[in-house]
Amino acid sequence: MSVYWNSRTKNLKPYIPGEQPGDRRFIKLNTNENPYPPSPEVIKAVQKAAGDRLRLYPDPACTEFREAAAARYGVQPEQVFAGNGSDEVLAFAFGAFFETGLSAEADVLFPDITYSFYPVYAALWGIPFRIIPLDDNFSIRTADYKIPSGGAVFPNPNAPTGKALPLADILPLAEYLEKNGRVFILDEAYAAFGADSAVPYINDHPNLLTVHTLSKSASLAGLRVGFAIGNAELIRGLCSVRDSFNSYTLDRLALAGGAAALSDSAYYDGINRRVTASRERVSGTLRELGFELLPSAANFIFMKHPAVNGAAFFGALRERGILVRHFNKDRIADYLRVTIGTDGEMDAFLSACREITGV
Ligand SMILES: *Cc1c(COP(=O)(O)O)cnc(C)c1O
Repeated sequence: MSVYWNSRTKNLKPYIPGEQPGDRRFIKLNTNENPYPPSPEVIKAVQKAAGDRLRLYPDPACTEFREAAAARYGVQPEQVFAGNGSDEVLAFAFGAFFETGLSAEADVLFPDITYSFYPVYAALWGIPFRIIPLDDNFSIRTADYKIPSGGAVFPNPNAPTGKALPLADILPLAEYLEKNGRVFILDEAYAAFGADSAVPYINDHPNLLTVHTLSKSASLAGLRVGFAIGNAELIRGLCSVRDSFNSYTLDRLALAGGAAALSDSAYYDGINRRVTASRERVSGTLRELGFELLPSAANFIFMKHPAVNGAAFFGALRERGILVRHFNKDRIADYLRVTIGTDGEMDAFLSACREITGV
């Protein structure tokens, strides 16, 4: 800490991203990246954009990208906001829609076990929040969110549990929050792997902001493209925050590659079917080996072994060249979050699990 840091910077507790090793070759199952390459159309579009026109600022309205997203999801371009990864979209959404007031009725609600960036954004903006524990089966209980609040945010499927909620739970909560004049941010980072998206219902719920990323389901974590879909007035609020910060958050390469990705659903449906098939196969084998797994609707599994401590298991996998994610946190310290890799990577992972548990 430096004497030059202001008190706000001194008080930050930043998010800690999963390790990106540079030194040694790992089987990397720790940050939910897609094991398959991006669509060839994306590579072509990025290469085409990497030319003379880089002299010029990109389109601040992200028109081509928003049109591609609108066509893909059956919405209007005015209902789409584009950002530098969905992390940025989430950060802007916290700033645009959640209050910094002091009354308990202004607290933003999110689960105890969820994406660990939410409390970081709340703290950055000075937004008070209240943590709502998952139930004993690690499910989000939407009834617990039907209380006076400043709004709510969670992923569906949730991370790191991988558990999805049906729209029959999501939509009544959107309606409850709408009646209370509050925004519901639904983070659909992993929806492509097995949850029903709420996007078709944004016209019914003007307070529902769905947040999406190309990092996981479109194999583009390195390009940094995220977006939100919701009521056009919510989108204008996001633009207002963005344009008070940086009008060009997406560069020309990201805009071109992102639009190409959204226009090639056939390719992505194919690779993501492979990911979900591997998830089911690996889950079956792990259960046979005595592991306990939560039912996953995402591209990762959340698992533990009754006889092996989570931190020790993480270390034993790392020694064998396999990186997974361990959260040293109440209730989940014995669990590991394991991204679904290629079948070859998952076979190596299963062998390591057999070796470590001795079965
Ligand atoms: C990975 C992830 C994000 C962030 O995605 P980026 O678009 O890469 O910033 C957001 N929410 C959840 C729940 C995630 O797991």
